[in-house]
Amino acid sequence: MSNRPDVVRTSTADLYDAHVLKNYGRPALTLVRGSGSHVWDDQGGKFLDFTSGIAVSALGHCHPHWVASVQRQAGELIHTSNLFRNPNQGELARRLVGYAGPGRVFFCNSGAEANEGLLKLARLHGATKAGGEEGKCYKVICAKSAFHGRTFGGMSATPQEKIQKGFRPLVPGFAFGELNNLASFEALIDDQTAAIFVETIQGEGGVNSATTEFLLGLRKLCNQHNLLLMLDEVQCGVGRTGKFFAYEHAGVRPDAIGMAKGLGGGFPIGAIWIGEKAADLFQPGMHGTTFGGTPLACAAALAVLDVIEKEKLMEQVSRASGSWIEALTELATDFPAQVLGVRGRGFMVGIQLASDPAPYVAALRDAGLLVPSAGGNVIRLLPPLNATADELASSVEILRSVFVAKK
Ligand SMILES: *Cc1c(COP(=O)(O)O)cnc(C)c1O
Repeated sequence: MSNRPDVVRTSTADLYDAHVLKNYGRPALTLVRGSGSHVWDDQGGKFLDFTSGIAVSALGHCHPHWVASVQRQAGELIHTSNLFRNPNQGELARRLVGYAGPGRVFFCNSGAEANEGLLKLARLHGATKAGGEEGKCYKVICAKSAFHGRTFGGMSATPQEKIQKGFRPLVPGFAFGELNNLASFEALIDDQTAAIFVETIQGEGGVNSATTEFLLGLRKLCNQHNLLLMLDEVQCGVGRTGKFFAYEHAGVRPDAIGMAKGLGGGFPIGAIWIGEKAADLFQPGMHGTTFGGTPLACAAALAVLDVIEKEKLMEQVSRASGSWIEALTELATDFPAQVLGVRGRGFMVGIQLASDPAPYVAALRDAGLLVPSAGGNVIRLLPPLNATADELASSVEILRSVFVAKK
């Protein structure tokens, strides 16, 4: 009960209608509780959650080790700013360098903020190339179907009308090649180019993987022209594909990496890793953030890494995704009029439909499975990294039932 007599109790739907910004079109669903791969709504409805907060809840909901770590840290020290050191940030940086290689890490709060750091890094590298002069070498080449976030830098690197419309003029200096068409990237390189920036696997764009050949080709171009190869691993990183970073499958070595979504297991945290070649371009005073890398956020991320390692979740993703993706691919064979193909890697999978995915996403929700859509008529499946074989099989059965019903 509210102790303020003037407060009228209203439904969550009414509160959203009255007071929350209208920038999302949401279904009539209010989630109140989660455990493992499942969430419950305020009506007692139970859902298999393969949205995972958009690839964020890497350990599922309320993993006991994660909950205990966050609770313990919350009672000890939550926030100090980056004006001081805290032990968790140092340890998390060490662990990430262990995965990415020699270099340095900066912590922030989201994917877009991580990418802003990378775009600023590209400017610093460009200025170095231009003998220290600003504004001479600053261009970044990205992919046409990319998504890099909603900030001005991120939007400017995301050439989608639905993202950019209404917000122009954008940040100058971006050019766009065709994913997996190396020649289209090479043709855009000139004296003003500082970096190439792509998602290893595009998420919002429709689960499109950069091929090994393409990534190795970009690496070569970057070496030839002294460009930074920067990879956006915000969605595909932190174990989602069965390797810590998705680029590891290609055996390529980037100069810088952006990560966020799965890193905190639900607690907001982003990070950039910068390899030795460029790590020292950021000097005191050149970049910052108030909230990044708090003791609490880093405790959450350390708990995620602990569980990924102790429960061998990357091995599990590799193992379990094989038969799961096979079963999903059978849906394309069984429902050729509805399903055009299945793609992706590990627990980042896209089912390309022949039509708008929105009615399918709604029907799947009614049937008890929560999934997000993506560009190019794609339904995305983003299970937590510890989803069980039964849960994966259950997702296939629910999909099958919806394809049967819509046949
Ligand atoms: C989600 C996402 C972003 C943006 O992250 P936010 O935390 O929403 O700012 C950037 N890049 C990729 C690849 C993403 O999937």
